[in-house]
Amino acid sequence: MIRDQETLNVLLDTLSRFVRERLVPAENEVAETDLIPADIVAEMRDIGLFGLCIPEEYGGLGLTMEEEVLVAFEIARTSPAFRSLIGTNNGIGSQGLIVDGTEEQKRYYLPKLASGELIASFALTEPGSGSDAASLRTSARRDGDHYVINGTKRFITNAPEAGVFTVMARTNPDIKGAGGISAFIVEKGTPGLHIGKTDKKMGQKGAHTSDVIFEDCRVPAVNIIGGKEGVGFKTAMKVLDKGRLHIAAICVGAAERMLDDALRYAIERQQFGKPIADFQLIQAMLADSKAEIYAARSMVLDAARRRDNKEDISTEASCCKLFASEMCGRVADRAVQIHGGAGYVSEYSIERFYRDVRLFRIYEGTTQIQQLVIARNMIRNAQQ
Ligand SMILES: Cc1cc2nc3c(=O)[nH]c(=O)nc-3n(C[C@H](O)[C@H](O)[C@H](O)COP(=O)(O)OP(=O)(O)OC[C@H]3O[C@@H](n4cnc5c(N)ncnc54)[C@H](O)[C@@H]3O)c2cc1C
Repeated sequence: MIRDQETLNVLLDTLSRFVRERLVPAENEVAETDLIPADIVAEMRDIGLFGLCIPEEYGGLGLTMEEEVLVAFEIARTSPAFRSLIGTNNGIGSQGLIVDGTEEQKRYYLPKLASGELIASFALTEPGSGSDAASLRTSARRDGDHYVINGTKRFITNAPEAGVFTVMARTNPDIKGAGGISAFIVEKGTPGLHIGKTDKKMGQKGAHTSDVIFEDCRVPAVNIIGGKEGVGFKTAMKVLDKGRLHIAAICVGAAERMLDDALRYAIERQQFGKPIADFQLIQAMLADSKAEIYAARSMVLDAARRRDNKEDISTEASCCKLFASEMCGRVADRAVQIHGGAGYVSEYSIERFYRDVRLFRIYEGTTQIQQLVIARNMIRNAQQ
């Protein structure tokens, strides 16, 4: 659903110019320094990028899902690190509060997240529980008007920068699965909360992950999201449905950028006395990529519109994440191939993108987990 096409066009134009003129020229610096320059972060704040999906009443732009994916197509046309910095505030870091938080929690935290004053992180994964997230072991024991949290979270995006964490922990040790899990808001600086060293990753330099360790970390009981125990895993899953669609949109934008770069190279690069773009085997790689991007873009827009229509899009979100992230990997591979040796050296951005986009098939549910979700939903629907 697009609320006002003209306002949206202004946002998309502003963003497209910002990506072209500010972010693309800074890509190499970010990759080399592993840091997004402070002036760029400030500009991202000014444009409102930290609050894209936070409701207007809490200081954000309140984008609908369709508007959000159109924005994601644009922002993904540069290093994914830029998107990663704003991604948690708009997605997994804030959505738990938006869908299930109490009014008081929303009023306190959301305006700070929307302005970018606070960076949010979402801490679900643990050393022993990734795909099987419901088996998590981090515990939260009630002690008077506090909970005492113990455990370790792994690969937490923006943890080194975060001012606030959404943390999934087991409040009922007798319930082993999802029903024993609650979601908490934990602020940076809370005694007993420690941030591990920053992970050295394959790609996405400038975006940071690390362990988050809780050692007898006392969190006020009012910080349990929604004020209720035992619904935290459901909150997490609601958040992931939306997140999967967002990541699928990011895959489309990244693939479009890689294909643009590959096309330009194919037109410029001469072999056997003519541009390599004249060779039909190169054309096949360009055409297959174009068709697959178009398919993914159409899927993402369709699923986004359905979500705006309040349909249950669990299956569609997983279909989009599965297809778009795998598509993005194939486009990255073909784009390297089209570049030949130049695709393997860092002078050309495709070498970096090839590494950066590999993550999309892994986080927010691996490809295999999306397959399981889709098949499980199909079988359940057939049996109803
Ligand atoms: C850079 C980065 C950022 C991340 N950011 C966050 C974050 O902000 N917050 C957060 O909570 N987590 C985050 N994660 C964690 C991420 O979501 C997990 O890594 C991911 O869900 C996979 O879990 P795992 O790494 O434990 O792999 P595993 O679950 O151990 O999976 C290993 C392999 O086994 C396969 N597999 C597992 N179960 C099955 C099955 N039943 N059937 C078939 N195959 C299966 C998987 O598909 C995969 O191929 C991040 C990870 C990375 C790398």
